[in-house]
Amino acid sequence: MTSDRTVTGAVTVHDSRESVVGRMTVHRALPRRGLRTVGPWCFADHLGPEEVTETQGLDIGPHPHTGLHTVTWLLEGAVLHRDSLGTEQLIRPGQLNLMTAGHGVAHAEEATRTYRGTLHGVQLWVAQPEPDRHGPAAFEHHAVLPQTTVDSTDLTVLVGTYAGAASLAGQDSPIVGADAVVRPGTSVWPLRPDFEYALVVLEGQVSVGQHVVRPSALAFLGRGRDEVPVTATDPARVLLLGGAPFPEPLIMWWNFVARTHEEIDAAVRDWQGRDERFGEVASPLPRIPAPAPLWAPRA
Ligand code: MN
Repeated sequence: MTSDRTVTGAVTVHDSRESVVGRMTVHRALPRRGLRTVGPWCFADHLGPEEVTETQGLDIGPHPHTGLHTVTWLLEGAVLHRDSLGTEQLIRPGQLNLMTAGHGVAHAEEATRTYRGTLHGVQLWVAQPEPDRHGPAAFEHHAVLPQTTVDSTDLTVLVGTYAGAASLAGQDSPIVGADAVVRPGTSVWPLRPDFEYALVVLEGQVSVGQHVVRPSALAFLGRGRDEVPVTATDPARVLLLGGAPFPEPLIMWWNFVARTHEEIDAAVRDWQGRDERFGEVASPLPRIPAPAPLWAPRA
């Protein structure tokens, strides 16, 4: 697997996996079998598009995180974020919510009390390296993000720097994340050879070389490239994720990103015991209990 990841020129297309998060169907593009991370990006859920009604919507009750940043980005709709730092922040299309878990944080994401209509977006996780993953929790909302144009593609830079546009969002590893509105034609996107990259298609479809990439699918580009041609025959919406290959082995379980089973066990105990590590979230939604780890004896 590691040798494949360094081959220049080998694009691999990975289907997403349907899952249910809160009360919404999502397509999980990352992690996939044989592809756990793209740079420090370790999780990518494509949410919707789906109608939010009284009984259907995102609505994820209070739950904990460790060792990661959550990156929330909407194409349509609105979500209310609340966290254990006391943040209450509505997010709308064009804005970025970035929460840092560090040693521990909890949050809730509400839709059905807040919004009616189509909800469409992504929720991404970025693994935090040592020693940042043991650091304090934080939350950032960016109402305005930098934009740039490459050929027939208009990009909004969520994190990192791309084609001369730099996001002010916090980052602790070399990383880029950008939302691309691709107009018909071929755009040649500049890339950094030291980064590995993936494209996740959100709307329409694009071709990367011989590969057609459809909604929710992820095209892994590897590293060693200084550009990639992206072709669309109709308008498409694509997420570009990249970064320096993440050097630390990760153990991801439920909402925790860690390094050992012992760390996960401790996080589960702390969440179940309502330890102040994760704090309290002032949400009307019920708190989500941690499932028992697979390696723990079953009751
Ligand atoms: Mn979460």
